[in-house]
Amino acid sequence: MRKKGFQQSIYITTNVSCNLNCIYCYENKTSKETFDVEMAKKSLSELLSVKTEKGTIIDLHGGEPFMVFEKIKELCEWLWSQNFPEKFLVFATSNGTLVHGKIKKWLTEHSDKFIVGLSIDGTREMHNTNRSNSFDLIDIDFFVTTWSFQAVKMTISPKTIDKLAEGIIFLHSKGIKDIRANLAYMVDWSNPQYIEIYQREMQKLAVFYKKNPTLTKSSIFDINLIAFANKENQSKKWCGAGTEIVAYDIDGRVYPCHLFFESICGKEKSKNANNIDFADPNEFTSKECSDCPILTICPTCYGSNYIERGKIGSRDMSLCKMNKIRVFEIAKYEYDRIVNDKTDLQNMSDEEKFKRIKTLDAIEALFPFFNKFDDCL
Ligand code: SF4
Ligand code: SF4
Repeated sequence: MRKKGFQQSIYITTNVSCNLNCIYCYENKTSKETFDVEMAKKSLSELLSVKTEKGTIIDLHGGEPFMVFEKIKELCEWLWSQNFPEKFLVFATSNGTLVHGKIKKWLTEHSDKFIVGLSIDGTREMHNTNRSNSFDLIDIDFFVTTWSFQAVKMTISPKTIDKLAEGIIFLHSKGIKDIRANLAYMVDWSNPQYIEIYQREMQKLAVFYKKNPTLTKSSIFDINLIAFANKENQSKKWCGAGTEIVAYDIDGRVYPCHLFFESICGKEKSKNANNIDFADPNEFTSKECSDCPILTICPTCYGSNYIERGKIGSRDMSLCKMNKIRVFEIAKYEYDRIVNDKTDLQNMSDEEKFKRIKTLDAIEALFPFFNKFDDCL
C-alpha cells in the first residue's frame, strides 16, 4: 500500500509526545497535549461524507501515535461503525517500540483497514545511532508479516550515510519489499565529504541491485526516468502539501501538511502558511532551481524549506550535488542494465520493449546535463 494512490490525505495529529529522541527529529516533543476524539470525529465525518474516485487515507500523525492508543482505538472503531460514502484507510507511521501486547493484538485484528508504516533506519548499529538505541524494542517480523507490501521509512543522517548501502541491504535481508529511504531534512549536510560518501554508497547499491535484479529497488536508488522525460510532468510538485493533503493540528486548525503546524514551524510562520498558493510553480520553485533539468526528480520537502529558509521553494542547496550524483548513478545503472541485458528480444513483451526504449531516451536527454556536471564523471 502506498499513500500516493489515494485521492486525498487527511492528516490528524494525535499527539506530539514521543518515547524516543531521534537525532534528526524536528518535533517539539515536550507537549503532553493529545487530540480531541470528538473534534476528529466531527471533521472526519464531514470529509468522509463526500465520495471521491480514489478514496481517502487518514494519516494519524504523532510524535509516536501509539502513545495514545486508547484514543486511536476509540476513533477508529467509531469510524468503522459508520456508513460513510467515502472509502478510507487509516494509516500511522510508528517507531514500532510500543507495538506489543494489546496494541499488536488490535492491529492484527484490523490489519486490513489500519496500516502501520514502520520507521527503521537500517542495521542495528545505524538504527541505534539515529533512533535512541531502540532497535531491540521492535518486532520487525511482525510488521513484515502483517503488512507485507507496506513500505518502511529509512532516514539517513550525516552519522549513518557512510553505511547507507549496508542498511538497505540489511532491510532487504529482513524480507522488506519496499524501502523508502531519504536523506534527513533540516540537518547539516554542508560538509563536502558527504558528496563522495554518497556517490560511493550509490555505487555499492548499483552492484547489489545488479546481482539481485528481482528485488524492488529502494526509493533512494529508483527514479522514474520515463516520467521525468515527459514534458507534461515538468511543473509537477514533489508532494501533495497544500494541494492533496489536508492536515489537522491537535486544536483542529487546518494546514498544508503537518510541518506547518505551530508546534513545528512556530506561531508566525504557521499563521502565514495558509496564504501560500501551493499550486503555483513560482511558489514551489526557486530561481536557483528553475532551469535545472532534473528539478522534477530532485527530492525536496516544502515544509522544511519553509522552516529553514522561509520559502517553500527554497531548497537546501548543500544537497544539490548529492541529488545530481544520485540521478547520474541511477541513470548509469539503468543504461548498463538495459544495454547488457541478454534476454532475447523475441521473448520480451511489447510493454517491456517500450519501457526500455523510453528509459534510454530519457537517459540520452540527460547526457548534455551530465557533460556539464563534471563532478559526476
Ligand atoms: S512538505 Fe515535506 S513533510 Fe510535508 S508532505 Fe511534503 S515532503 Fe512531506
Ligand atoms: S539538483 Fe540542485 S539545482 Fe537541480 S533542482 Fe535539485 S537542488 Fe535545484
